[in-house]
Amino acid sequence: MAPADQTRKAQTRTRMPDDMAPRLLAWYDVHHRELPWRVSPREHARGVRPDPYRIWLSEVMLQQTTVEAVKSYFRVFVEKWPDVEALAAAPTEDVMKAWAGLGYYSRARNLKTCADLVAARGGRFPDTEAGLRDLPGIGAYTSAAITAIAFDCPAAVVDGNVERVISRLFSITTPLSEAKTEIRAHVEAMVPAARPGDFAQAMMDLGATICTPRRPRCMLCPLRESCSAVVSGDPENFPVRLPKADKSQRRGAAFVAMREDGAILLRKRPEKGLLGGMTEVPTTGWTARVDGATTQAAAPFPGDWRRAGTITHVFTHFALELEVFHAHIKGEAPEGHFWSLAHEISGEALPTVMKKAIEAAIPGATKKQRPH
Ligand code: SF4
Repeated sequence: MAPADQTRKAQTRTRMPDDMAPRLLAWYDVHHRELPWRVSPREHARGVRPDPYRIWLSEVMLQQTTVEAVKSYFRVFVEKWPDVEALAAAPTEDVMKAWAGLGYYSRARNLKTCADLVAARGGRFPDTEAGLRDLPGIGAYTSAAITAIAFDCPAAVVDGNVERVISRLFSITTPLSEAKTEIRAHVEAMVPAARPGDFAQAMMDLGATICTPRRPRCMLCPLRESCSAVVSGDPENFPVRLPKADKSQRRGAAFVAMREDGAILLRKRPEKGLLGGMTEVPTTGWTARVDGATTQAAAPFPGDWRRAGTITHVFTHFALELEVFHAHIKGEAPEGHFWSLAHEISGEALPTVMKKAIEAAIPGATKKQRPH
């Protein structure tokens, strides 16, 4: 049987999706994830309302980062800056330092700018998708998530987990990159008038814990009776994806210079562009070439440079391979650079790729150390 016929036949054998939201909410009431920014269904029923600041902060952190990675950063942020006014009052440099390691650093700059704007309007976040989208760093997904979760207003919240669930529920054979509108329409039709915020979180939780990319646990799924993919065959075939183009490869060299007292030489990256405003050890440019401009020959100052290994890091659009060199240097920091004392390194705004480079040269250097 042709796949399209299989899909049609499966759809006629599944229940109509009109009661999907109640079934999903009943499942969520029992099986929701405990998350530090979340108001549980029980608390919600008792009248506890989510704090829009915490929902906004968590959603910005969760853009392109996993829940597990975000949890500890979220706790540090709300401890340091418990509300949007406190975050607005913080120096940008401190926010960048607290963000270091979470990646996609333009998010941290937008977070700070957004906090400044919201604080200037009395600390109240807009409660509509359109109003939220006017703020920096808040796009279609984040505005829908905040509208639904923080304000309990109906909004179609579609992240990667939800795309997978919907693709399977309706056996969508269109490649995912071209099926966004279709998926959104399905979600819009499913959002209930009551508890839209819990519904949005329930869909996310279902995708994260039951309808997983590999080996979905369909036997435990509250939507099983409405799921076209589980009837028609292998749910793992959905969503349908076009083959990925290989990431381009770039190369360069990183120079980890250390003073006698263990201080490491750093500099700040330009505000604009990749890793903008973050801290780094001196590096060459990162290009597809391998020549004198991307090797030890390009060391920024003379020294006893020795190879300390190679590190790799994958960015969104390219993979980077850095040769790491290490030297002991005496004297003043060259112009545009500064010495970071050994016990201060862990608090610097070092992105993960730079921590990897420093660790290759001096194992343990980026971990927290006591001042002498
Ligand atoms: S039945 Fe299986 S494939 Fe369908 S939505 Fe549930 S977990 Fe996903």
